[in-house]
Amino acid sequence: MALVPCKVCGSLNSDQAEICLSCGYPPEGRKRPAIFQWAALLVVALLAVPLVMSVLSRLQPEPRQLPQEAPAAQAPPSLAPAGPASRG
Ligand SMILES: [Zn+2]
Repeated sequence: MALVPCKVCGSLNSDQAEICLSCGYPPEGRKRPAIFQWAALLVVALLAVPLVMSVLSRLQPEPRQLPQEAPAAQAPPSLAPAGPASRG
């Protein structure tokens, strides 16, 4: 923790202090509240998400152009037994 001189009254204040304890002037080393940074990140995210989604949708190949390999196990529905064994 360091002490910084106030630009107005010259009294030493902690760099962690929000304002000067003597005259109330904000010290030079004052940091921005974290809420501003979070708000900026939120705005950027809201603007960037739709853009990224559109780019990703363009990069993905169309379903029609997917390579159709030979079907491994595909039995015709007529040969497959439907439901449980016949009763009666
Ligand atoms: Zn001061």
